[in-house]
Amino acid sequence: MSMKSAALACAVLLAGANVRAETIYLTAARMVDPVAGKVVADPAVVITDDRVTAVGAAASLPVPDRARRIDLAGRTILPGLIDMHTHITSRADMHGYRALSVSVPAESISGVANAAKTLQAGFTTLRNVGAPGFADVALRDSINSGETVGPRLFVSGPLIGATGGHCDENLLPESYHAVGDGVADGPDAVRRMVRRNHKYGADLIKLCATGGVLSKGDSVGAQQMTYEEMKAAVDEAHMLGLKVAAHAHGVAGINDAIRAGVDTIEHASLADEESMRLAKARGAVFDMDIYNDDFILSEGPKMGMLPESIAKERAIGRQQRETFRRAVKAGVTMTFGTDAGVYPHGDNARQFAKMVEWGMTPMQAIQAATSTAAHVLGPLGDNLGAIAPGKYADIIAVDGDPTSDVSRLEHVDFVMKAGMVYRQDGKPVAR
Ligand SMILES: [Zn+2]
Repeated sequence: MSMKSAALACAVLLAGANVRAETIYLTAARMVDPVAGKVVADPAVVITDDRVTAVGAAASLPVPDRARRIDLAGRTILPGLIDMHTHITSRADMHGYRALSVSVPAESISGVANAAKTLQAGFTTLRNVGAPGFADVALRDSINSGETVGPRLFVSGPLIGATGGHCDENLLPESYHAVGDGVADGPDAVRRMVRRNHKYGADLIKLCATGGVLSKGDSVGAQQMTYEEMKAAVDEAHMLGLKVAAHAHGVAGINDAIRAGVDTIEHASLADEESMRLAKARGAVFDMDIYNDDFILSEGPKMGMLPESIAKERAIGRQQRETFRRAVKAGVTMTFGTDAGVYPHGDNARQFAKMVEWGMTPMQAIQAATSTAAHVLGPLGDNLGAIAPGKYADIIAVDGDPTSDVSRLEHVDFVMKAGMVYRQDGKPVAR
């Protein structure tokens, strides 16, 4: 190596992250271990390329030769956070009729900016559950190739649902012939739509089992896909190795979705005792977005949300939080999903405090966004959700201890994804 290139390499390493160091030795004041459900003092983590290779007490884990040192003194490290319900290409200020002016290419561009913000907030993996025109597939591939910066994405592509349902385009009169790009009626058509989404790169399938808050002209609790339609979707998706998420607020839609074999129930607002019994028996997981009620009610009208959407949220938001509390008590497996995109990207961690307010311990809320989320992802999550040998080096840090004050997670100080540092000392690392 010439003097000039050695100096350049050194400068790049000092800058922090442009070049992947071979080995990093990372220390901190504490580590949250969500798998064991405990906090460990004075941990050390050895990272080699994109993986964790050793974890132990700093006093007993030797520093490998030529390792780069990162000391997060006074900070708590934990696995990179996972948000299981995002709309990464959507903008929080483009609801209702404003959304009609947004093209698929424009969504893709917004997705690039939204992904960068979400990574800076400590979310190193997202499950994206709905994007038009496979914009989320394009964004996932762009991030994976290193072209753009963002969390690791697992994506559904277009939402699959009924004509006139939550996932159709209902804002315009019939003469415009506007149809959502995942609309399908009847088991065969739904099955074909699952095959199409798989063909164009979806990692999972998202169904719209019931009406929704932000869709025009439907009833938020009413079932919109039949059991037979959902069964066809689930059979096809599982045959292809894909998990299925179902948007479902009302109890009939929730229970039919679980009976059909859906893996995660999104929203689960009006779930009853039978829903919870079924979920536990069938291994279905609740993914409840209990932060965004605050945003919809206070900011929604300014963001273009229709008056009927605000009314629907007013009718259902509080009930959803009460259902959340009952589901925690009942022992339903719960993961962390926020519906980011309805509210601004990067505020995802605001949901942690709500989850604690409505019945979880801080550790349970952290597990929902780390070890449990990784488990719910199935094989896609095999190397995620823990700081442990063999896992991706997805590590974040906050000041203080988030297991005593979970709102600490709203101020992430350090972000590493797959061994690369993207945020340090509370500031983005330039790439
Ligand atoms: Zn959603």
